[in-house]
Amino acid sequence: MLTADRSARYTMPPTASFPPYDYDVAVIGAGPAGMTAAIRTRWVKSYKSVPCSTVLIDGAGLGGLAKWRSCMLTGPSFHLPGSEVVGHFRQDIEDLEIPLITSHVVNIDFEGPVKTVYTESGAVVRVLAVIIATGFRTLCNEQDYLQHIAITYMGYEFFAELLCNFFNLEGRHTVVVVGNEFTRNLVDLIESCNNGRHQIIYLLNTNTHNPQLPQATGAVIQGKIMRYEGDRSLEGIRIMTKDAGEQFIPCSKVLLDYNSYELAPLYEFDVSPLKKTVRGFIKVDREMRTNIAGVYAAGDVTGLYATVGRAIGDGIVAGFSAYQDIFKLKFKQQPCLFAYAARDIKITPGFKDLPRLRPHLKPKVIVSSGRAARLAAEYAAKHQLPADTLARLVAACNGVHSIAEQRAVFNLEQSVVNNLIEFLVEKKAVALHR
Ligand SMILES: Cc1cc2nc3c(=O)[nH]c(=O)nc-3n(C[C@H](O)[C@H](O)[C@H](O)COP(=O)(O)OP(=O)(O)OC[C@H]3O[C@@H](n4cnc5c(N)ncnc54)[C@H](O)[C@@H]3O)c2cc1C
Repeated sequence: MLTADRSARYTMPPTASFPPYDYDVAVIGAGPAGMTAAIRTRWVKSYKSVPCSTVLIDGAGLGGLAKWRSCMLTGPSFHLPGSEVVGHFRQDIEDLEIPLITSHVVNIDFEGPVKTVYTESGAVVRVLAVIIATGFRTLCNEQDYLQHIAITYMGYEFFAELLCNFFNLEGRHTVVVVGNEFTRNLVDLIESCNNGRHQIIYLLNTNTHNPQLPQATGAVIQGKIMRYEGDRSLEGIRIMTKDAGEQFIPCSKVLLDYNSYELAPLYEFDVSPLKKTVRGFIKVDREMRTNIAGVYAAGDVTGLYATVGRAIGDGIVAGFSAYQDIFKLKFKQQPCLFAYAARDIKITPGFKDLPRLRPHLKPKVIVSSGRAARLAAEYAAKHQLPADTLARLVAACNGVHSIAEQRAVFNLEQSVVNNLIEFLVEKKAVALHR
């Protein structure tokens, strides 16, 4: 039964009809592609849009590869540090209060209109859209140990020089080479540059069963890095092996064979329902849509060409596409959006960019409760409405109860509730769930 008391939000029965979900969009991977995708779904543009409720998921936090010192937004004549570029996105994400789940995704159920995303930490998130922006592989805390890590990139001639310099170390070290089955292309070079001076361990992060490196002089382990450890300098890496579980490998240097991941990306979750390229990258169309409705991909995970600039562009497009599809699902019409898909419609005085609020939509506050309360108070003062009632109404906007239910519970006129919700939508403080 509906009640109008202070515990209203706990006693209202949830609206049936569409399966319940937690966020409109989950963005998996928070590198430049994932960050820009999340920002666009949440913000879209400054004027008259209906923000999506969006969550970012990445065990390595925000920034992806672009927070490493060697990754930059580059042209021949300019080098914008990647950290500076992602610094702006970080600020946007903070200002927009986009939540981040700091864990890696281990499974996605792609079936049906609501997708379910599972993380390593046990979080379960139900969403209308998934944007996969996982790059070539998962990251952890590499950026804290970059002075002890060499990375294969730039070109094959460069590798030869890089490796010879890299193994030119004083004393005897344990070096872990991290890659996948394509690291086989480097083994001869690695072994000849090392020339027996240091102990080498190969850690292959691959789904191939029992990968072989016949030329390797050291152990070959199948597994992945979970964490780099050491007080100031690198003392070892904690890994998860395919068979033996967690293990610590003492080492002072790591060679990350990015070249091998550029040949075949690594996924932490099953992507078999998605169409892929020969090399295993996710196939997308020009709008970053995959073969599954409601699933998009952006950045390095879609294959060539791996650059910060392209990742940013991809992320923006994927964000727009997810926004557009979700908007159509909720409002049964195209969004008015300047950036794409201008609508061939007659514009008359009084035309409204925002769609009519349908009573079955469920408002969800997507900013902090304090900010939402301040906005409600501002609105109440401006329109001489009961501040306490509006505050309680806004506090009850949890994406579970519909606008119609809110009207009944708080005994307010339709126009009052609609105008308040529209005001909060325009302030990008409220999303409307289906
Ligand atoms: C050494 C090096 C130097 C480079 N230099 C340049 C340069 O100078 N100029 C340039 O334009 N480009 C450069 N690049 C390329 C550029 O960094 C990438 O193209 C760009 O960062 C790709 O962005 P992304 O968001 O697609 O992926 P990434 O930046 O790789 O981000 C992907 C994120 O997804 C996360 N992730 C992966 N799997 C999961 C999962 N299962 N669950 C949750 N999160 C997950 C990862 O932890 C990571 O944070 C360089 C790359 C390297 C390796």
